[in-house]
Amino acid sequence: MAAHEYNPVAGEDPAWKKHDHKACIDQAIRDAEAICRQRGVRLTPVRKRILRLIWSNHQPMGAYALLDMYREHEPGAAPPTVYRALGFLMEQGLVHRIASQNAFVGCAHPADHHQGQFLICRSCGAARELHSDRAVQALTDDARALGFEIETPTIELSGLCPQCRRQQ
Ligand SMILES: [Zn+2]
Ligand SMILES: [Zn+2]
Ligand SMILES: [Zn+2]
Repeated sequence: MAAHEYNPVAGEDPAWKKHDHKACIDQAIRDAEAICRQRGVRLTPVRKRILRLIWSNHQPMGAYALLDMYREHEPGAAPPTVYRALGFLMEQGLVHRIASQNAFVGCAHPADHHQGQFLICRSCGAARELHSDRAVQALTDDARALGFEIETPTIELSGLCPQCRRQQ
């Protein structure tokens, strides 16, 4: 699988810049298909559809919003359908749960197993995943000094994205 390119230039990141989002969706679906094939797990049509819906944009989406959108395709679909699909997608690292919003966002580089940090814009809601190994290492060391073993080093940071800062 091709390594994903990160663009660290402020304001140029697809998470908050206007871009060809269809390319993001297509890439996410291709990655998910490849990963599931490789792991021998099934990306069923329901799972794929939920993943596509999560990738509607770069804003985390709540389970009920997903259910509403899913029902446009399958009227009368029950919440467990969506929850089960979300469970699978999280297990495979294809989506992340943003606890502070009880919402879900697609992972742009699901091939690497990881826990991310998230920069979440309080104005437009866009979430950009970061992998700050330095931050995680520092926190892990500090926690260990207190005898604490971190299991889920997910960090959610709220602020303003470059786009919204310009509009201030
Ligand atoms: Zn996009
Ligand atoms: Zn991720
Ligand atoms: Zn913003």
